[in-house]
Amino acid sequence: MIPPAFEYLRPSTIKEAVGMLQQHGDAAKILSGGQSLIPMMKLRLARPEYIIDINRIPGLEYIKEDGGYLAIGGLTREADLEASDLIRTRFPIIHDTAGFIADPQVRNMATVGGNLAHGDPANDHPATMLALGAQVVATGPGGSRTIGIDDFFLSLFATALKGDEILTEIRIPMPPARSGGAYFKLERKVGDFATVGVAAQVSLDDKGVCHKAGLGLTNVGGTPIRARKAEDSLKGKALDDPAIESAAQIASAESGPSSDLRGPADYKKAMVKELTRRALKRAVERAGK
Ligand SMILES: Cc1cc2nc3c(=O)[nH]c(=O)nc-3n(C[C@H](O)[C@H](O)[C@H](O)COP(=O)(O)OP(=O)(O)OC[C@H]3O[C@@H](n4cnc5c(N)ncnc54)[C@H](O)[C@@H]3O)c2cc1C
Repeated sequence: MIPPAFEYLRPSTIKEAVGMLQQHGDAAKILSGGQSLIPMMKLRLARPEYIIDINRIPGLEYIKEDGGYLAIGGLTREADLEASDLIRTRFPIIHDTAGFIADPQVRNMATVGGNLAHGDPANDHPATMLALGAQVVATGPGGSRTIGIDDFFLSLFATALKGDEILTEIRIPMPPARSGGAYFKLERKVGDFATVGVAAQVSLDDKGVCHKAGLGLTNVGGTPIRARKAEDSLKGKALDDPAIESAAQIASAESGPSSDLRGPADYKKAMVKELTRRALKRAVERAGK
């Protein structure tokens, strides 16, 4: 299908793009990789009158360490995450996540900023960013502000970004020594959205006791879910089989999936348990290295 007609705008600075958002309000949409926006326009689920293409704004694509944080530019492509040594060695959970998104063609265009800004609980990065305790940098008319990821996803397709703000950066605290993470996804076929996804990130002390845990769940609720009770159950414990089993059970209870074409709710809850178990085991293995 061909999308409805729109006016195409191409700012060359963030300031110019923010000005366009202010001028056109709800009639305008930011275009990053276009991998969610264009399909939605083709299906008539989105009908923006103005498209503000930010792809020519320089300086929004990077992956770097910055003052104790991993900083990812809002326009950074999934393919760049996959190719990054910093991501592969220090954030294997993000490397796992990027590799699960769609197919190489989509990943060459799709951006991390777009994946979060879209606010789709079926997208894969939100759960991983919840597990990592990320921050989102939003730039608007008054400058930039930082939004904690726990406050970012408000409801289905709704985020804390204001209508005149652009997601310009994602910031993730660099994990301490003996940290590890993993993302597991059940999909009907390669490239599909998740039936269920689970992101787990843990930090262990010298004795192997967990002092920090993050667990995020994909596509099992109206927003991406942080499984806080399951996280709490892990803290102060050696992450042996009983501790992992118990956290997996709690995470399953914290999920709220609906029955749909990807399966009945009970099946999805069982899959949250299984994937939490697997993600935690892989995270502990990686933390040990
Ligand atoms: C065939 C196919 C399969 C897919 N499979 C998966 C999958 O398995 N997992 C997954 O997570 N995703 C999947 N997706 C969805 C897609 O990959 C993501 O949603 C994508 O990463 C969105 O990023 P984008 O840059 O393409 O955003 P766009 O499509 O350009 O934008 C998406 C939305 O976010 C807004 N937006 C974008 N960037 C910004 C910004 N910087 N600031 C403010 N607002 C912004 C846009 O206005 C729009 O509303 C799939 C898509 C396709 C086409």
